Amino acid sequence: MTSNALMNTYGQRALTLVKGEGAYVWDDKGKKYLDALAGIAVCGLGHAHPAVAAAIETQAKTLVHCSNLYNIPAQEALADKLSALSGMSNMFFSNSGAEANEAAIKVARLHGHAQGIELPTIIVTEQAFHGRTLATLTATGNRKVHAGFEPLVRGFSRAPFNDIAAIEAIGDNNPNIVAVFVEPIQGEGGVNIPAPDYLQQLRALCDAKGWLLMLDEIQTANGRTGSYFHYQQHNILPDVVTIAKGLGNGVPIGACLTHGPAAQLMQPGNHGSTFGGNPIACAAALATVETIENENLAQRASELGSHLLQAFSTALADCDKVKQVRGCGLMIGIELSEPCGELVTQAADKGLLINVASGNVVRLLPPLTFSDPQAEQLVDMLVPLINAF
Ligand SMILES: *Cc1c(COP(=O)(O)O)cnc(C)c1O
Repeated sequence: MTSNALMNTYGQRALTLVKGEGAYVWDDKGKKYLDALAGIAVCGLGHAHPAVAAAIETQAKTLVHCSNLYNIPAQEALADKLSALSGMSNMFFSNSGAEANEAAIKVARLHGHAQGIELPTIIVTEQAFHGRTLATLTATGNRKVHAGFEPLVRGFSRAPFNDIAAIEAIGDNNPNIVAVFVEPIQGEGGVNIPAPDYLQQLRALCDAKGWLLMLDEIQTANGRTGSYFHYQQHNILPDVVTIAKGLGNGVPIGACLTHGPAAQLMQPGNHGSTFGGNPIACAAALATVETIENENLAQRASELGSHLLQAFSTALADCDKVKQVRGCGLMIGIELSEPCGELVTQAADKGLLINVASGNVVRLLPPLTFSDPQAEQLVDMLVPLINAF
């Protein structure tokens, strides 16, 4: 099955996946794979989850779409649920992560203009990934993502990740700073975990300066790192947080959650989306969020993640090529001393789906519902491949 009618944005793709159930997927030839990637941190409940399938089916037979010209009960129920879980007060629903981040960037600009700042500027970090729209690719700290798409968007200033002093220095020299926008753990950048007090220090700095603290939790939230939102492990509340990936278990939906003064900035006519927060996406997300909550899957991610970190660290202790094994919950990175993209193909040949981020970091993002035997199977399949690499 090869069509010439697609833009070549994803290059040659080796596999054709046609079916999934729980932590397994099958290709068009009937071969079965253990899925340790979950559609890039999207299918946290695994594939074809019955609660999500039932919610989609019921909503599809009732009302798929009506537009935001009307009240949408599922959207309001989801907002109330996420507000209670997050401590954030007001949110906007989008169809993707990048679009949630666009809303956050617009909130930051309103925050600046409200203070008479004409060129509001957001501090972002090196190796960050925030999406592929023009503003979010500008915020992304990767030359490859920028190349060919200049002119980039104005109003961003870049600091190294995990470097509070660098952010302070930018603030001292630039009166236009209005916000700091970071991932609490960088995902695409290679599972980069900052110092334990990084978020608290950012919170204190933003409070002192009157800047918004904006967290991109598109990959780290929805239970993935061991709490519903990652910032909850650091006892802070951001002013803005964006989520997407795991929110709808595969149905496209994102959200930009705000709190405090940031929550009052958007007014009628400032922002919108035809599909954003539509009934079917919200019904799927509501079922997903309730399942994560009712089945304590954030706690499960924390425990299984610790176990996997330990297992990989022990099993790979004598492998010279492994520089570091790191992770938080079920977001795990195994950094090698050289580019290791071929491991993706080698693993797939053995029936295992993994990913490599930033060239040399094996990234694992299994479903939060991974069983103990599946975790053992993952270690047993992956360790020999890394040792032999
Ligand atoms: C995936 C991701 C995005 C972009 O989300 P899309 O849904 O692909 O637009 C943004 N930020 C982070 C941290 C991500 O992991």
